[in-house]
Amino acid sequence: MPELPEVEVVRLGLARQVVGSVVSAVAVLHDRPVRRFEAGPRAFEAELTGRRIEGARRRGKYLWLPLDDGNALLVHLGMSGQMLVREAQHPDERHLRVRVSMPEKELRFVDQRMFGGLLLSHGGAELPREIVHIARDPLDPEFDSDEFVSRVRRSRSGIKRQLLDQTKVSGVGNIYADESLWRARLHGQLPGEQISATALLQLLDCVREVMSEALGQGGTSFDALYVNVNGQSGQFDRSLRAYGRAGQPCARCGSLIRRVAFMNRSSFFCPSCQPLP
Ligand SMILES: [Zn+2]
Repeated sequence: MPELPEVEVVRLGLARQVVGSVVSAVAVLHDRPVRRFEAGPRAFEAELTGRRIEGARRRGKYLWLPLDDGNALLVHLGMSGQMLVREAQHPDERHLRVRVSMPEKELRFVDQRMFGGLLLSHGGAELPREIVHIARDPLDPEFDSDEFVSRVRRSRSGIKRQLLDQTKVSGVGNIYADESLWRARLHGQLPGEQISATALLQLLDCVREVMSEALGQGGTSFDALYVNVNGQSGQFDRSLRAYGRAGQPCARCGSLIRRVAFMNRSSFFCPSCQPLP
């Protein structure tokens, strides 16, 4: 699943390439990606047509494009969604689901597995009501670090589970959680209440560092499906120190990185640098 850096890469591309454009036509080619828009696919097409795109914003892994009527086009990429900006004559992608035509270009929602989707959020230009429950992310200037720290320390849950809790902090998924915990030298199963406030603030710094570096490299591309609006993959996977490196030496101490099962996925950590007490 794409994480914050991959989604932010897409947002930056949309900000550069579609903001200011007016939608000339919309075609929903498969109904599933607009299933959460209750008025249905034909209303989606009619309401979006003629609107000017005023911006490209993000909260956690949700993107939205504020429109000139005060509504917003809200996008979630799910497991495999892509927002591509193509010239109109570019051949259709195999899993093209929604085509948003603009003068001289098209915004295309391509999604193989179709867990992602689009909807029009009425009155959602500032912040769509569908995502008000999503916490800010650590790169957001208004993210409240002290609030995060005190909430984590009131809980017995393991720190990794809390990092993935989108109501506490958004945008951190499995890959960047493991990388941040490795940098902070914290074991993911450490209960929040046993970690000092100082260590948690350092962990947040590590999260910001990892995400900023990943952004600088266009994100991580474990899956060829994570691409920017021009269809290109990022390169941060070459910089990973823990995630996906089971059996390889820790870059800090040489111990072998271990993998354990975690919530239907895996956790990767260094048993020496990130001990459990
Ligand atoms: Zn180590």
